[in-house]
Amino acid sequence: MYEGAVQDLIDELGRLPGVGPKSAQRIAFHLLATDAVDVRRLVDALTEVKARVRFCDTCGNVAESEQCRICADPRRSVDVICVVEEPKDVVAIERTREFRGKYHVLGGAINPIENVGPGDLRIAQLMTRLADGQVTEVILATDPNVEGEATATYLARMLGPMGLRVTRLASGLPVGGDLEYADEVTLGRAFEGRRLIGG
Ligand SMILES: [Zn+2]
Repeated sequence: MYEGAVQDLIDELGRLPGVGPKSAQRIAFHLLATDAVDVRRLVDALTEVKARVRFCDTCGNVAESEQCRICADPRRSVDVICVVEEPKDVVAIERTREFRGKYHVLGGAINPIENVGPGDLRIAQLMTRLADGQVTEVILATDPNVEGEATATYLARMLGPMGLRVTRLASGLPVGGDLEYADEVTLGRAFEGRRLIGG
């Protein structure tokens, strides 16, 4: 335990995902040794992101206005929606340059252990987007782990009867993993080789 401000900083850093007590301590002492100007830049970035960034009204991706950059882009095709768990998955898929449609961010995956059910995800918003019949294919790109598979299965069952083409990313993605950790080539191939799944 350190005194006052240092310990407060370590405690705050330690609450971030993936930052254990040792890392929190290392980052805190790094910041202590950093020039005030550089620390100011970090503070500004944190303040700005909270003030300016919100979630897209349409797809749930991070956005700086009502619609995110992708939803607002008229060059993106409107007949394919790729369903992902988190905004970071959008970034991972965009890196592959394989996909030119739009996204839908669920905000997580079905996870009974952590009490996350279908009602906690942006599934109703997805159904609303599909209601006008413009979309012909839904690609389920939830993570290749238990929760992601359960979510994909649940969605496939809902979407199947709507007469849509419902596809799932091809195998080859590391099982049990997180979409964002797949390299671009693997993820790109998984996209090309996506397969139909039954409803
Ligand atoms: Zn959007």
